[in-house]
Amino acid sequence: RIPLLAVDGGGTKCLAVLVDRSRQEVGTGRSGSCNYQGIGEEAASRELMQAISQSLEDALTRNNLTLLLGHEGTKVTQWEVECAVFGIAGLDTEHDREVITKMVHGVLQQLHIRVRHLIIENDGFAALLGATGGKPGILVIAGTGSIAFGVNEAGETARSGGWGHRVGDEGSGYWIGKKAITAVLKAEDGRGEPTVLKERLLPFIDLARVDELFNWTYSPHYSVDKVGELSVLVSQAADQGDLVALQILETAGEELALAARAVIERLQMKNKPFHMILQGGVLQNDDRVRKIVVERVNGYASHVVIENAQNDPIYGVIAKGLAYLDSQSGQ
Ligand code: BGC
Repeated sequence: RIPLLAVDGGGTKCLAVLVDRSRQEVGTGRSGSCNYQGIGEEAASRELMQAISQSLEDALTRNNLTLLLGHEGTKVTQWEVECAVFGIAGLDTEHDREVITKMVHGVLQQLHIRVRHLIIENDGFAALLGATGGKPGILVIAGTGSIAFGVNEAGETARSGGWGHRVGDEGSGYWIGKKAITAVLKAEDGRGEPTVLKERLLPFIDLARVDELFNWTYSPHYSVDKVGELSVLVSQAADQGDLVALQILETAGEELALAARAVIERLQMKNKPFHMILQGGVLQNDDRVRKIVVERVNGYASHVVIENAQNDPIYGVIAKGLAYLDSQSGQ
């Protein structure tokens, strides 16, 4: 029996990790985004399947399965997993929960994995509860998507933002990338300020002209996570002093701070001590965005500790699974 399978299925990447009794990672697998809202159910299932089967293969090739299974040479036809924790982006409503639960069960069945205790949560929720270990805290994610989650002393939880790329996810990589494309089109039309974003975006997508950039947004090559990647170019343009890029990033920071503030307010944490964890490519790579979030939250709440350790959300997901295993062995 494998003690723990942890899966962080974010909007940028999907990471699956197998953990043994001594809490060592013994197999990891990785694939692309598995947010079904961005890529559809079928593709999301495929990505989930790839990451999990890769983690099993990795454990096999690293010869760690003896560690996991406790004996050698047995042909495995059915995997037994004690606890599996899935933190999945795109789990925003009860409807999403139904869709994603069905997806996860389908994947586990196809891979012949039987799970004794299955936890399926939103990626931010799973990462937050794992990272804080139940202590009061808030987590702000700005990767391809964005969201703010919090838990207070009483164990109450709240979320804000994170309503997907089409109508929400303010401050996320996708949101920044989309604003950058719009800025290029506006500048080209003479409706917007001049910006170096054109010179950065076009070669990155391997295009020569702005009209091609527009056509790309309706082409099969367009994807939510590819637009999210453009946020790095916006940061680079801002480093060069590009005012349009700086403005986009500033608004992103303000939007993320707004989501964090809404969570703090709802959970009445304004005057209480809590940790704030900042995750995702945008918050990790762009100091300007990060600084705005930290400053705004510090100005609003009185005792905030900024957490930098173990930034990858998978650690939160693993911690959540370990907490469950501990609770069982303590019984
Ligand atoms: C999704 C949320 C997710 C967030 C962060 C958004 O696009 O709708 O479910 O928590 O991204 O990954």
